[in-house]
Formats: sequence, C-alpha cells, structure tokens
Amino acid sequence: MEVKTNDTQSPLDMWVEENIENIAANKFRVLESIYSKRSRFQQVDLVRTKGHGLMLFLDGLVMCSERDEFVYHDMITHVPMFVHPDPRRVLIIGGGDGGTAREVLRHKGVEHCTMVEIDGDVVDVCKEYFHQTSCSLGDPRLDLRIEDGVRFMAETDQKFDVVMIDSTDPIGPATPLFGEAFYKDVHRVLAEDGIAVAQGESPFYQAQAQQAILHNVRTAFSHTYMYNYSNLCYPGGLWSFVMATKGLDPLADFDEARVAASGLEFQYYNPALHRGAFALPEFQRRLYEGL
Ligand code: SAM
Repeated sequence: MEVKTNDTQSPLDMWVEENIENIAANKFRVLESIYSKRSRFQQVDLVRTKGHGLMLFLDGLVMCSERDEFVYHDMITHVPMFVHPDPRRVLIIGGGDGGTAREVLRHKGVEHCTMVEIDGDVVDVCKEYFHQTSCSLGDPRLDLRIEDGVRFMAETDQKFDVVMIDSTDPIGPATPLFGEAFYKDVHRVLAEDGIAVAQGESPFYQAQAQQAILHNVRTAFSHTYMYNYSNLCYPGGLWSFVMATKGLDPLADFDEARVAASGLEFQYYNPALHRGAFALPEFQRRLYEGL
C-alpha cells in the first residue's frame, strides 16, 4: 500500500489511497504509519489518520476505521442476534480486528463464541494497537482459533445458532468464503433455527460480486435476504450484508421488545433501522429479482 507524500515530506501532506476497481479512489489524510508488513496471507497496514483515527488496511483495502467501525460491527452482529430467539452459540469466520466479537460478547445470553481468523498477524496488530475493536478478544467465552475458516467449517461437528462471515473481499484466502461449497457447510453447522450473515460487498461498485454471493448462498439456503448499511470509509458508501436462515424471517420474527430488554446501547443499530435496512433501493432490488 502506498502512503503518498509531496516533495516537502511534511506529515500533513501524507495520504493513503484506496483504489476502487481502477475507476475511482478514496483518499485519507495520514498522520503516521504505525504498522506495515506482509503477513503469510496479505499486506497488513495500520495507519493513524487525521479524520478517521486508526485505519486498518489489508492488501490496500480499507477494513475498518476507529471513526465508523461501529456501523459495520453493529449491523453484522445485532441484526441476526435480535432475529434469532435465543442465540447462545456463535461462530465468527474472519473478523481479525475483533469488532464483531466485541459486539457478540455484549449479548449476555451468549455462552460461547468461536472466532476463526486465518491471519494471526491481523489479530496481533489489532491487539497491540487497535484496542477499540480488539478489547474483548480476551473474554473467557471466546475461543479464538488462528486457522482457515473454510477448513474449520468443513471439518467441525459443532452446531451454532448464528454464524457471521466477517471476511475481506472475495480475493486471496477469502475467495472460498463466498463459494457454494462453503455455504453448504454453513448450512450443515447451523442449528435448526440458525441464521448466517455474510459481508456482502457493495451494490454500486461490486454489483456482480454481490449477485454471485447471493446466487451461491441460495444453492444452500431457501430463505435468503439482503440488508444495507452506509459506511463512511467504504467505497460508494452503501454496503450490504447477506442473511440466510433455515426459516426465520428477519422482519416477521424480529421481536423488537428484546432490543430494549437487552439493556444494550448502540451507536448505529436500533429497531427502526433494523426494519429499514431490508428495504432495498429499486436498482438493487431489480438486480436480484432475476437471479
Ligand atoms: N470489515 C471488513 C471489511 O469488510 O472490509 C472485514 C474485516 S477483516 C478483519 C476480515 C478478515 O477475514 C481478515 O482479517 C482476513 O484475514 C480474514 N479472512 C480472510 N480469509 C479468511 C479465511 N479463509 N478464513 C478465516 N479468515 C479469513
């Protein structure tokens, strides 16, 4: 990843740029580069920015920023956790920054959370520097495994109430996390009233990838849904999660009273937003109708 400087080399003139499909770019003003190394799997960069606080990049792509990580982590976690009537056993695939585990473990009913992250370097760098997201990785209910989520999913005989696939884009080691075989395994490890949620890319810049994910999920699940969230530092702003269930409906089975009863406070999530997130814009709805 390139941190760009001008001739004066003043720190205030450094920018980090995310290339978006070679047609656009997002730029963030950098105060300092904290960590930059190639792991066994990917290029890992952590920078401190002027407007977004710490930002984690993998292979040059924004994973999360201190300023708005709550949006993504609220929506990947609390939407399925409040649709499932009693989520006790949770599985996270990926999620090395720890933000999803942090939100899952705020639910008092969770007895056990397994997190399977392929890249130990991502976990280590976030534990050392990115405390806002990694703060719950020492929770005794968390079983953190550094191994390939695809292999774990194929081999485990455990059952889970909620599975969250908190992965990078479908490139490199994350590619099989978006495939048909993987989703068949997700279906197998889910309990009878289980719910799976997966990072579902952007309907603007990655419409084809989004269609492909939904297609692959539907080969394993008969009940599939998409819901949206808007994120400040992801390309295009509007991004989606794919949800798959064994029958639960994210709106009809959503018991709003459980949100208040949980006693949890949120920065992004609330019941009205839960409902509204499933209302897709027309262009996106049409994209999936033909599938
Ligand atoms: N919020 C981010 C986003 O969508 O931009 C994603 C979070 S990032 C922490 C995703 C994590 O998935 C990375 O740490 C990456 O190492 C991990 N990952 C990729 N492929 C994986 C695999 N096959 N098994 C487990 N984890 C994987």
